[in-house]
Amino acid sequence: MTDQFSYDVAIVGASIAGSAAAILFARKGAKVALIERDADPAAYKKVCTHYIQASATPTLERLGLAEKIEAAGGVRNELDFYTRWGRIRAPSQQTIKRPAFGYNIRREKLDPMLRQMAAETPGVDFISGFSAHELLLVKNRICGVIIHGCGGVTRRIEARLTVGADGRNSRVAELAGFFAKEKPQGRIGYFAHYRDIPLKSGNRSQMWFLEPDIAYTFPNDDGVTLVAAQPTRAKLEQWKRDPEAAMKGLFAQLPDGPNLERATRLTPFFGTIEYPNLIRKTSRPGLALIGDAAMSIDPLWGVGCGWAFQSAEWLADIAGASCQAVDEARLDRDLSTYARTHRSKLAAHEFLICDYSTGRDYNFVERLMYSAAARDSVCADQLLAFGARCITVGQFLSPKALARAAWVNIRHAVGSTGPNTMPSPAE
Ligand SMILES: Cc1cc2nc3c(=O)[nH]c(=O)nc-3n(C[C@H](O)[C@H](O)[C@H](O)COP(=O)(O)OP(=O)(O)OC[C@H]3O[C@@H](n4cnc5c(N)ncnc54)[C@H](O)[C@@H]3O)c2cc1C
Repeated sequence: MTDQFSYDVAIVGASIAGSAAAILFARKGAKVALIERDADPAAYKKVCTHYIQASATPTLERLGLAEKIEAAGGVRNELDFYTRWGRIRAPSQQTIKRPAFGYNIRREKLDPMLRQMAAETPGVDFISGFSAHELLLVKNRICGVIIHGCGGVTRRIEARLTVGADGRNSRVAELAGFFAKEKPQGRIGYFAHYRDIPLKSGNRSQMWFLEPDIAYTFPNDDGVTLVAAQPTRAKLEQWKRDPEAAMKGLFAQLPDGPNLERATRLTPFFGTIEYPNLIRKTSRPGLALIGDAAMSIDPLWGVGCGWAFQSAEWLADIAGASCQAVDEARLDRDLSTYARTHRSKLAAHEFLICDYSTGRDYNFVERLMYSAAARDSVCADQLLAFGARCITVGQFLSPKALARAAWVNIRHAVGSTGPNTMPSPAE
């Protein structure tokens, strides 16, 4: 027996992207089915270091989630970079015009909270314990999904728009024939959560660029600190054998690094060993992909959660009205617009992130921008705004920004201590 249901939007996956999209579509009046294969209301993504970039803060505020994150103890995040040229720190928050912070909050708190918000939003039917099994197709247009629950229960969900928000190994993408473009990853990753680590940076997150290895500390809710490292693949055997010893050895050498010997480890080490960058097409008639289903790239830069929120918002804003109209051609035009929006906002970031993920040395432009950022507060703000994905690659590498970085370094080389007269690239 197959029960049959009809919706404006069927969203597969109720984690960050799917829950955010369900809320935003339903607020626009759409009737939404939110389908999640995990039946446990406390389920959450385990393999994530949960640094949400400032680029997503306007979306979190619009959802009404920012205040819930703060109430749950989430930490407003800011990042200090440590480089061979010195520490890079953003100017004080008051002087920053872009969103000045994102949030650090553990997924075990974030995911259930967001999913509950979605389930309680009028217009959303939350269907948990069901997995996408097959897409419904009429004349090459996707028009819903067949889902399977435990005990052999099957439901036929008809929808004008079907959304794949089912993560990196998206079943929806596979069923739609969207195969991922793969780009190599030259680093492995290990992390664990600790308690009782006083950070020399206070409540600020830290990221060490050790060329080519990377280390982080992210203070989170409840006084828990996430400690992570992304060494190059050449060190795999050492890390696999004893991640704790490898992590302690690495952190013992870091400037301003915490003392892991005196800290209490709360979780086992999680390791990502095979994690190529995956990029997919994001739409076809009747269907769109958001979040990791659309693009899942190097975790080093902590962009996946923020982009999961933001891609959900772009899709809901573009297709929120047309998914409720009879005219399917209009909806499909909007889905093409969503695909173009996704590409125009993220493709250049994706290119740079994948290029650096091979574990290669810095190129000339990176040396120029990082060294200038360590020596000049305007360049520091520019670099950190880019890292938080609040500005585009074009803005980061604008002629004015490159000129300033060159000027800062020339001034440094000649030992000038004169006044800072170069205009800000934002002006
Ligand atoms: C080691 C590591 C560290 C990371 N650190 C960060 C970080 O610091 N900051 C950051 O921003 N990002 C980070 N990321 C990336 C981040 O975890 C993801 O980008 C983010 O979780 C994507 O959210 P999503 O909603 O698209 O997908 P997911 O969170 O993967 O959710 C997919 C959902 O779909 C459900 N699902 C799957 N298949 C089906 C199906 N067939 N039917 C129904 N439901 C289904 C799943 O149960 C799940 O609920 C990290 C990733 C890794 C691997």
